[in-house]
Amino acid sequence: MVMGKRIRAIALLVCALGCCSLALADAPNAVDALLDESLALIISTPEKASVPFAKLQALRGTFTPAQNHRYHAHYAKYLGWQGRHEERIALVQSIIGQVTSPSRRASLLYDLVDGNRALGHYESALQAMNESILLLPSIDSINAKALVLNGAVSLLTTLRAYDEALVFAERIIALEPDKTGTRTQCHGLINKVELNYKLGNRQLAESLVPETVLACDASKEHMTTLLVKSLAAIDLIDSGQYAKGITTSLPLVQQFQTVGTGSNWLAAVEEALARAYLKTGDMERAEYFGTQAYQRAQAAKDLDWQEKTSETMAAVKRAQGQLTAAIGFYEINLAFKKKAFDDQQQKNLAYQRVKFENQDKANQMALLEQKNKNLNTEKALQHGKYQNLVLLLTLGLVALAILGASLVRTLRQKNSFRKSAQIDGLTQVSNRAHFTECAQKAFNNKDSVVSLVLFDMDFFKKINDTYGHATGDWVLKTVCHTVKRRLPKDACMGRMGGEEFAICLPTFSAEETRAVAERCRKAIATVDSRHSGFNFQMTASFGIATRDANGSFSFEQALAAADKALYFSKNEGRNRVTVYQHSDAFNHDAAQAR
Ligand code: GH3
Ligand code: MG
Ligand code: MG
Repeated sequence: MVMGKRIRAIALLVCALGCCSLALADAPNAVDALLDESLALIISTPEKASVPFAKLQALRGTFTPAQNHRYHAHYAKYLGWQGRHEERIALVQSIIGQVTSPSRRASLLYDLVDGNRALGHYESALQAMNESILLLPSIDSINAKALVLNGAVSLLTTLRAYDEALVFAERIIALEPDKTGTRTQCHGLINKVELNYKLGNRQLAESLVPETVLACDASKEHMTTLLVKSLAAIDLIDSGQYAKGITTSLPLVQQFQTVGTGSNWLAAVEEALARAYLKTGDMERAEYFGTQAYQRAQAAKDLDWQEKTSETMAAVKRAQGQLTAAIGFYEINLAFKKKAFDDQQQKNLAYQRVKFENQDKANQMALLEQKNKNLNTEKALQHGKYQNLVLLLTLGLVALAILGASLVRTLRQKNSFRKSAQIDGLTQVSNRAHFTECAQKAFNNKDSVVSLVLFDMDFFKKINDTYGHATGDWVLKTVCHTVKRRLPKDACMGRMGGEEFAICLPTFSAEETRAVAERCRKAIATVDSRHSGFNFQMTASFGIATRDANGSFSFEQALAAADKALYFSKNEGRNRVTVYQHSDAFNHDAAQAR
């Protein structure tokens, strides 16, 4: 449920884009003027923006690269406003590869986050969000940073990851720590209020309302002021203060008429009013506001609000004794509940897949930013500019320690999470448990030949020791990516631990498997390590065991045999493939190799 987020996002985006356009407005010409006009219209009256866009279309042949970028960036936002998210995403994807400026990339990534979120493509949205968060340290403009953070808050709120969204809301507020009453503060604060209400922290949320109203009034964010007041009014009704809730909500409904009735929050206030009137026995008004809210939610096709308002309407109709109508609304409500449930399943899945990588990055970035701040403070200190910087520095170090602790906590959480998840977070191949499950299935098919490959990186410890753990991690990710691409479709691949991996190849004979393993071995040995920032050679040793059709090897026995073959490869000088043989000599040599 991201009510009103869109309005806030547009305000931010306008500012972020506006700053780009100012920077480029040195030599105004007809195209620049039209670009400015299109942007101004997207902000004020987007339905009129088609006029400058049509004129711009005709002038496309004359665009400079910078104008071309602005055109696409503005047009993507325009498509977003129209709800044409597929086209918006396709447009951004066709140009983002050529855009190097961090703030411009961030603006385009925002379109990917928001567009994919709107389409329910949550995994893609999360990935774009990750990428945009990684850009934060290299973005100078506060507004562009705020746009990235706002995209993250909006997406995570949609996914109901409220705690995580709150972290980003706090970061929006922290963007301008020395100022009050800015637009950024207003947006950060309303997010914080909304999320705290959602998390059930009513008192904290309520205590932030006056401050938020002040900041939003000061920055002329009238719609946002109205939103925060709506949140507080709805909460009164949710907490049973019906009379007070009604007197607070009614004037807000009026204000929406002047500021704009397009907001989903209007439906939310009306829905709360319907419940309040229902509780206080005023059926006529309950029905009026309930119907308004229901129709608004239907028109906006907002699943969560369709679900909520249809339930309220069912309750109203039941209280009025109109049982057939009540049953009708209950049925509608049930259908929405089912849809909402399926949607939430999708969200959970996408979120769990990307979540921990995400948290890692967010924390690491925060850590980095804090380190930079400390560095700047230290520099200022050296110049003897300020006396009280010692205090600031101490505070900064405390913040760093807290962030560090939260990073450790995330890593711990990650480890516990991975036990239950199927995918190894670093390499994106199956974890040991999931691989075992998959390979067991192949071995259970007694009628078919099945092969198992084990491979282990050679002298991996040396890579870690020489180039650092991060490079080691890069090697593991790259190797998995390289190998996975060379496997047949029905193969499963898993990380058995550390730098050891396994592959199960159903229906593959020993010789066929040897050919696959050879291809993988060669591919690993020819990986260009310079992408990691260092130049070194990496290799891996392979062991293969095969169970023939109707053979007697169990999965565990095959694993032990492949392990022997792997150690044979190590002993013979590494960077090679060995197929296990049922011979005493082989077993003797393999044992020696251990
Ligand atoms: P050999 O050729 O005999 O396999 O030598 P090796 O150095 O590859 O083997 P060893 O078992 O001595 O070292 C494996 C190292 O892998 C030790 C461990 O710190 C490192 N390692 C395990 N998991 C990870 C990881 O997720 N990331 C990184 N960077 N290193 C890891
Ligand atoms: Mg090794
Ligand atoms: Mg090993």
